[in-house]
Amino acid sequence: MAIKVVPQVSTPVLNKGQVFFVCVIHGGGAAKHGPGAIKVMGEIMVNEEVFAKFRALLARVQKNSQFYQKKFKAAGFEIEDFKSPEDIAKLPFTTKEDLRETYPLHIQAAPDEEIIRIHSSSGTTGLPVIIPYTARDVADWAEMMCRCMQFAGLTNKDRVQITPGYGLWTAGIGFQAGVEKLGAMAIPMGPGNTEKQIRMMIDLKATAFIATSSYALLLAEEIYKRGLTQEINLKKAIIGSERWGDKMRARISAELGVELYDIYGLTEIYGPGISINCAHDSGLHYWDDYFYFEIIDPQTGKNVPDGECGELVITTLRKEGAPLIRYRTRDITRLLHGSCPCGRPYPRHDRISGRTDDMFKVKGVNMYPGQIDDVLHTVEGISSEYQIVLDRKDAKDSMLLRFEKQAGFDGESLELAVKKRVKTKIGIVIDTEALSLGELPRSEKKTARVIDNRYR
Ligand SMILES: [Zn+2]
Repeated sequence: MAIKVVPQVSTPVLNKGQVFFVCVIHGGGAAKHGPGAIKVMGEIMVNEEVFAKFRALLARVQKNSQFYQKKFKAAGFEIEDFKSPEDIAKLPFTTKEDLRETYPLHIQAAPDEEIIRIHSSSGTTGLPVIIPYTARDVADWAEMMCRCMQFAGLTNKDRVQITPGYGLWTAGIGFQAGVEKLGAMAIPMGPGNTEKQIRMMIDLKATAFIATSSYALLLAEEIYKRGLTQEINLKKAIIGSERWGDKMRARISAELGVELYDIYGLTEIYGPGISINCAHDSGLHYWDDYFYFEIIDPQTGKNVPDGECGELVITTLRKEGAPLIRYRTRDITRLLHGSCPCGRPYPRHDRISGRTDDMFKVKGVNMYPGQIDDVLHTVEGISSEYQIVLDRKDAKDSMLLRFEKQAGFDGESLELAVKKRVKTKIGIVIDTEALSLGELPRSEKKTARVIDNRYR
């Protein structure tokens, strides 16, 4: 029976920066300290298996990666100093900027004869990042993707239409490898040509499709508009690469009559397929035999208290072509407690609620527009528009959340309900103001909804 490290089910009050892990025996529901757990200063526990993987990774990059040799030297980090799980927090972070500087192939940490493929990020905001893969990396990625398909309930009887792009981008080919490994039928369409997509979908009786959320919505609307809803045979959709709200989910799901699955991943770390939700939709399971996940405060770089939101930081435990240590994803999420009702052993993180660029701090608490979205969504009678006004009164932060109420709802009750919900969910006291529909300015950009008057 393998031992996994997951966040503890019930957590004592922790000071900022402390992380508490316990070990859970695979297949068992109860959390308990497994044999081989290493306890550090009463707070950090990482089992020997994970710690050994970390040590092996460091030894590998020290030997094979010029990038990390330089990085460790610059940070004054000596591999001999890595003695306990507590030392993980001393390892320097790797950032997207670091990776851009490795263009074209200076990140490579395996000999040329072992590299069988490269992929690349789009490079829309600078030099692209090129990631080399060994044969084992490609096989590992296919295995993770295959797990994703299984978690979404697909089997070898399914026919899966793949609409993300093929080529330098990691999406299309990664999905295809997972579908083939599962033994299902891959329909490798790639993006665009909606006419042909719909025809193939109907003629081949595709049972599932993979798409970005915006393309899934476009397909759903086209199928609905053409009155073809009865002719499609879709049961499930796997949606990746963009953040999408509950309202969009509801539309795609209702118009196509499909179950939706969120898949997460990024080019720097293999590609999509590093986590996915199961049918219980209680967060995304991630593969802790391949990765070590941490959540940090993006401003201080310190680990956040257990269960709090922050920036996801990933270490690849097995990757050969371009291993990454403490890679800052800029994606905001939190690790979830306890075991999933599905009983699977893999730990979970919450849906990605935003990017670190969108973060703001109120009363010492890091907040993201996505959290406000989530709160407002749970209160009946409120539209999706809102505005956050931050001020400083008597040397203290104040936050006013203005939102629009739907016709027929009482403003005062909604103000109280939202105030209460923010206090419970996020832990701070705010002011609220209910407005009539259409009173707030419309903006596609979430950051434009935060008005900070504090330091003006
Ligand atoms: Zn589950």
